[in-house]
Amino acid sequence: MSLQDITARIAKAETSSGRSDGSVKLIAVSKVQPNERVQAVLEQGHRCFGENRVQEAAGKWPAFKEQYSDIDLHLIGPLQTNKARQAMELCNAIHSVDRPKLAKTLARLAQEIGSCPDLFIQVNTGEEDQKAGILPADADGFVAECNELDLPVRGLMCIPPIDEEPSLHFALLAKIAARNGLKGLSMGMSSDFEQAIALGATHVRVGSAIFGERVKPQG
Ligand SMILES: *Cc1c(COP(=O)(O)O)cnc(C)c1O
Repeated sequence: MSLQDITARIAKAETSSGRSDGSVKLIAVSKVQPNERVQAVLEQGHRCFGENRVQEAAGKWPAFKEQYSDIDLHLIGPLQTNKARQAMELCNAIHSVDRPKLAKTLARLAQEIGSCPDLFIQVNTGEEDQKAGILPADADGFVAECNELDLPVRGLMCIPPIDEEPSLHFALLAKIAARNGLKGLSMGMSSDFEQAIALGATHVRVGSAIFGERVKPQG
């Protein structure tokens, strides 16, 4: 696989599901990938990347940002409130807003900083104990709470359980977004991004299919 293959498959999935060209944004998930691989994808002209840890992103991206002015960095992993400021200063979007305490912290910091990244609310569609995200039953209330805080919520994000049909989760996420008037849907990874596009994904998060298998396990 390569960046070119994935962008071609995205374009094909857009067409075959009646979506307009370029309606799906590819987030190249570069977590734990060696810098040479990231550099190679940058050299091919891609600028939108995803990281799931603030600390790792902070170690890696400032140098790339010096080289390339137009990097679009998305935080896709869990965010602790004590790292929220750093995440907001480093990232253009945060896909893991998953609890009232974090929402309140982001709102306070947005006031202080004078800007806020685009936000996605993570929904735990599989209601898994070990997974982050607001439960589907609590999602409408949490979206309303974020709106009251004036947060720039662009959409919803989910990570389906590994052993279940992802389409059911994508459809559920799309339904929750629609009834809350949200347009963004961050869903679909290496193994299922075409299904996600068919169900309305606006942002797909693809790592290993672009970069190859992750070299170090994420621990
Ligand atoms: C690692 C990760 C991805 C990418 O996974 P691949 O299977 O390598 O495409 C997508 N989303 C999140 C939240 C991740 O942590």
